[in-house]
Amino acid sequence: MYPRVILKGTLIKKSQQKRRTSPSNYKERFFVLDTQDLTYSERRPGKKPVQKGSIELARIKCVEIVCSDIPIPCSNKYPFQVFHDSYYLYIFAPDNDCRQRWVRALKEETKCNRLAVKYHPNFWMDGRWRCCHQTEKLAAGCHEYDPMGFASKKPLPKTPDPERRLSNPDLGKVVVVAIQNYIPHDASDLTLKKDQEYVLTDSSHPEWWAVQDDRGNTGFVPNIYIAEKSGSNFNRFVWYNKNITRARAEELLMQEGKEGAFMVRDSRQLGVYTVSVYTKAPGSNGEKNPRVKHYQIKDTEIEPFRFYLAEKYLFSTIPELIQYHQHNAAGLITRLRHPVTLGKDSSQNSFDVSQGEWEVEPAELVLGEELGSGEFGMVLQGTWRDRKVAVKMLREGAMSEEDFKEEAMVVTKLSHPKLVQLYGVCTQHSPICLVFEFMEHGCLSDYLRATRGHLSPDTLLGMCLDISEGMAYLESSNFIHRDLAARNCLVSKDNEVKVSDFGMARFVLDDQYTSSQGSKFPVKWSSPEVIKYSKFSSKSDVWSFGVLMWEVYSEGRLPYESRSNAEVVESLNAGLRLLKPRQTPSAVHQLMEWCWKEKPEDRPSFAVLLHELASLSDL
Ligand code: ADP
Repeated sequence: MYPRVILKGTLIKKSQQKRRTSPSNYKERFFVLDTQDLTYSERRPGKKPVQKGSIELARIKCVEIVCSDIPIPCSNKYPFQVFHDSYYLYIFAPDNDCRQRWVRALKEETKCNRLAVKYHPNFWMDGRWRCCHQTEKLAAGCHEYDPMGFASKKPLPKTPDPERRLSNPDLGKVVVVAIQNYIPHDASDLTLKKDQEYVLTDSSHPEWWAVQDDRGNTGFVPNIYIAEKSGSNFNRFVWYNKNITRARAEELLMQEGKEGAFMVRDSRQLGVYTVSVYTKAPGSNGEKNPRVKHYQIKDTEIEPFRFYLAEKYLFSTIPELIQYHQHNAAGLITRLRHPVTLGKDSSQNSFDVSQGEWEVEPAELVLGEELGSGEFGMVLQGTWRDRKVAVKMLREGAMSEEDFKEEAMVVTKLSHPKLVQLYGVCTQHSPICLVFEFMEHGCLSDYLRATRGHLSPDTLLGMCLDISEGMAYLESSNFIHRDLAARNCLVSKDNEVKVSDFGMARFVLDDQYTSSQGSKFPVKWSSPEVIKYSKFSSKSDVWSFGVLMWEVYSEGRLPYESRSNAEVVESLNAGLRLLKPRQTPSAVHQLMEWCWKEKPEDRPSFAVLLHELASLSDL
């Protein structure tokens, strides 16, 4: 079969300097991209074109724009790079649209290659990389390569008018931190480097915010790639009390009197914050003495600044730090369980069964046939206030009921079309029942097996997209699922997939389920830091989501098949990962692998996953 031409045009190419001594030069060449090669030739009026070079597409490891900080010494000012074999070819396009067309087409054609994991965003020049200052030309890249950065045919969210920058003068002081690298998609965008700080200058667009870097460059970035750093905007968090003294904090927390009641307040030292937390844990003398402990939030003092309360657990932003310690004591006397806010009726923080809207009247509940049974007991179909519901009847001793009652208020308040809604709980009689939205097609893992071979690629992608939407909402609510898997998702009558059982793992009493050594612990869905240190976070949910995408694309197969938990842990430690299920598009597989990065901070957030999956679904 003859190769099909995809793109052609005149561009400027910089010599590849295969010999160290050859001088740099820039030549106009006629480039042709076909389904096999990228070829360039010299065309002179009246003469036959002479082919000057050709790169087999299969040899290409990376194609990306070059973010240059130097004047470009030729008439075309929009550079991009093609890394193949051990050479970097720099090509210059006359405008950004043209560059985008070439980069997108080349990425599309090479996306199934053995690609570089990292690349250099800036030029190799004068014997060093301008981005990372390494002096070895073949040194590994310093930026994560995103092979799909341009592959999406979905237009990115509309870019606002660059003239509108600095439209909000109040924003001048808001400092944000990049939580992911971001490579500009066009000239009005700005490069983001993970963990680096930027000043927010315009947040009026729903998706694209303008930020300024430390060199004064301003540009747009997707707002899901940044997080607020400064305390000036902590007001929206229930745990923050701006003007409160140490003594008043102690008074309020003692009044609350609940283990783990906490608040974040300004320290006497300007710009420093303190976490105050109430505990009844025995002191060093072994006596139980209710008291309030104060922990100052420290930073690492060297750039990039990271925050911590107990050494070892470092975070780019204070909200991330608090979120982490809401789920993990990790060096504190207790985990931060109940946020307490000045001026707010403290009963709002507790679960008051007698008045709660989440209390379901037993008389209003009609129970029907059994739907199945799970960790907590039987699940029955039912009706409540004219709607079909699923009712979980809690088996005695299966759940830590007191803790759950406190949490039920939080869970009933979580509401999103891609989460299975908890309508309420019925605690007046034993057994306690939980009343959920009814999902006709039952759990996702059974559904995938039952429909194996009949689901289209669009349906499979749509399922992942549904789940990522629900999870992005949980992530933005600072809520960790802890047991995300196909068995904990349910399918509606319209084949919509919703996330269920979020946070419930915390209330299971069976140690076989809760201890990472236990036979029921979901090791195959757990990230390394959960297996090793029970360190749960939204990023450990992201790992599980990678496994869940794998379950979707393998149509309900059990991950790691018949291998034991110990064998799975051993192969994860050796850096091995689940293999790509046969029908997975490579772009989706790359997302799975991204979710399975060893370090939690190297994994994408759900907001980013949602964005990426949405782009793929529009292809
Ligand atoms: P547990 O959380 O106690 O482990 P599950 O959530 O796994 O229990 O529920 C057991 C079974 O009950 C599921 O496999 C599913 O078939 C059915 N089920 C659970 N919740 C619902 C619901 N909201 N709608 C319809 N069926 C449900």
